[in-house]
Amino acid sequence: MIIARNLLERWIAPIVFAVAVSSLNPAQAAEISVTNASPFQGETIELTATPGESEAPPSTVTFNKQTYKLFPKSDASEGKQLVSLIAIPADIKPGKYQVLVGDSKIDLAVKAAKFPIQYLTLPKSKDNFLMSPGEEEGIAAAKATVSNKRMWTGVFTVPSKYATSSKFGMKRVVNGKLLDDYFHSGLDFRAPAGTPIVSCAPGKVVLVGLKWRLHGNCVAVDHGQGVISIYIHMTSVGVKVGQEVEAGQKLGTVGSTGRASGPHLHWSLYVNNVATNPQPWIAVPNSKAWLAKSSAAE
Ligand SMILES: [Zn+2]
Repeated sequence: MIIARNLLERWIAPIVFAVAVSSLNPAQAAEISVTNASPFQGETIELTATPGESEAPPSTVTFNKQTYKLFPKSDASEGKQLVSLIAIPADIKPGKYQVLVGDSKIDLAVKAAKFPIQYLTLPKSKDNFLMSPGEEEGIAAAKATVSNKRMWTGVFTVPSKYATSSKFGMKRVVNGKLLDDYFHSGLDFRAPAGTPIVSCAPGKVVLVGLKWRLHGNCVAVDHGQGVISIYIHMTSVGVKVGQEVEAGQKLGTVGSTGRASGPHLHWSLYVNNVATNPQPWIAVPNSKAWLAKSSAAE
């Protein structure tokens, strides 16, 4: 019996050792990096994964209990590197998080963005979040679109030439009441009714909503790899679902349709279904790696 146990141990020990070595062997695991390991709430970062030599390329990234797709970088000099955009939710608790790619992980330290509070008055008839039939589903489907080809390069085009009013992330007090579990999911432009709204980047129109109670007349454009822009409260819409648009191409005009206190453009950007702060996307050229580089995947 003693001999048998020794034999068993001799068999088990090398097996356990081999497993430990394979998960610790750097050639086996993907090497990962992010553009900013200390992002603010509401910020988007880009993750790059270089698969290990003998490893099957990873296909997804996991962060904050969500799984996002990895896309190949198209630039030949980048080899077989994979990329994914990760939007840090505006309402995530600041602190330490891990991003996982297969057996590899990287730590993030999310910083508090300190979003201000905004006070608004709305007519009683509009002081609710009721939606029209099909509205919630239409918006949800548009936000969840993930297509493979990254259609933009460089900084995004500002969708209205007028000054911004409400910033992204603001908490709101409407008619004297603080809205729980609410933050302003986009950037507002104080633009007069009838002025043009243009697409912030090349893409494909995935949604046209008309006369919706909350969003009014609205358009959503898919820019690829999980990036979607949404334009709401429009007076008129001049594009159709399925239509391809260029950066700067007119989508329609500013209005106050839906839940709006007056004419303005509300512009949201979603990354993998998470609302992100649009400001860095239209800011200083070359300020972010994913904006500066062309990495359109076929
Ligand atoms: Zn808004």
